Amino acid sequence: MRRIYLDHNATTPLHPEALKAMLPFLQDSYGNASSIHFLGREARAALDDARERLAKLLGAKAGEIVFTSGGTEADNHAIFGVARALADKGKHIVTSSIEHHAVVHSCEHLKEHEGCALTLLPVGRDGIVDPESVRAAIRDDTVLVSVMWANNEIGTLQPIREIGAICRERGVLFHTDAVQAFGKVPVSVSDVPVDLLSISAHKIYGPKGTGALWMRPRVKVEPIVFGGSHESERRAGTENVAGIVGFVRAAEMILPRMQSEDRRLRDLTERLWRGLQQRVEGIVRNGDPQRRVANTLNVSVPGCASDSLLISLDLEGIGVSSGSACAVGSLKPSHVLQAMGLSNDLANSALRFSLGAATTETDVDAVIEVMPAIVSRLRSFQGAGKAFARK
Ligand code: PLP
Repeated sequence: MRRIYLDHNATTPLHPEALKAMLPFLQDSYGNASSIHFLGREARAALDDARERLAKLLGAKAGEIVFTSGGTEADNHAIFGVARALADKGKHIVTSSIEHHAVVHSCEHLKEHEGCALTLLPVGRDGIVDPESVRAAIRDDTVLVSVMWANNEIGTLQPIREIGAICRERGVLFHTDAVQAFGKVPVSVSDVPVDLLSISAHKIYGPKGTGALWMRPRVKVEPIVFGGSHESERRAGTENVAGIVGFVRAAEMILPRMQSEDRRLRDLTERLWRGLQQRVEGIVRNGDPQRRVANTLNVSVPGCASDSLLISLDLEGIGVSSGSACAVGSLKPSHVLQAMGLSNDLANSALRFSLGAATTETDVDAVIEVMPAIVSRLRSFQGAGKAFARK
């Protein structure tokens, strides 16, 4: 059976150039970057070079980047690191109600165990945070605002520039989780008023288990991983040289093609939406259709449970997701769709299509082709067909 992968927001395949760049560091150049001898020096040189190259892509300086084990660690580092470093200044954090769990759970932990107060910003039905709600939420004891650049479930792009400007004006640090934005829209820390920014390799055709946190100079951030002086004493642990080299090579391959990919993927997601809209009665599109990363289409199919849709598509060789990958296996509806005010039926019948570099019109057409039969079968099984038809 032909397999169609439409879950690129969960992870992407490794770019062949990234693999090529990694192989020497998994084979002959396997040194520890902290070792003094020749193998250590080789690893150190590769690490320094990768940091310089990533900094250039981000409009940053090499010394401002800390490599991490991925986006989750970068988010944890930003949230815990700032909250703990500035605990004597204040203990209030502002974040949105549609953040990835890496941010949400870090903030909740600080609230439950370290005496922090938390304000969760609402979003409208479009899935977008109103910058004015950030202004209203900031208090004298606010130490950090964290709002993601692009949402992983619905793809909406947040008004990062405006939110950053408000934080600047109020003298509050601003962190953005750019894991889903980097590689899809231009992300440069020299253009946008942010103080901390998280990215991850495996969302941009790099390897899993590598990411980075960028921090503006002089921003006070406590380490969260202890045990060595790696990463200029900001993050202990032997650096994943192969992963980091692959991460940066992938970024160098992806970023120059971003604009043309944006156009191509926007056309493809629109084609998918139009096709589904024409052939699946009652289907609803979630999130702002324009202010979004081009590859993401989130829909709800009333009368069909997300898990059943997902399994039925899987049986046809089509891989999609019902939302955040971390929510798979749990029956809880997505906190993002709930925050947007979707009814339980809509939140429980959501599907996320996230397209990627290898996705073609033929793939999209195959989804449009199989969906109507899947939907009518599920609606009849679940006895929802009649109820739905009566509405
Ligand atoms: N932040 C966002 C917006 C994400 O989509 C993800 C992954 O799904 C993460 C953070 C976590 O990144 P990682 O898988 O590298 O830990």
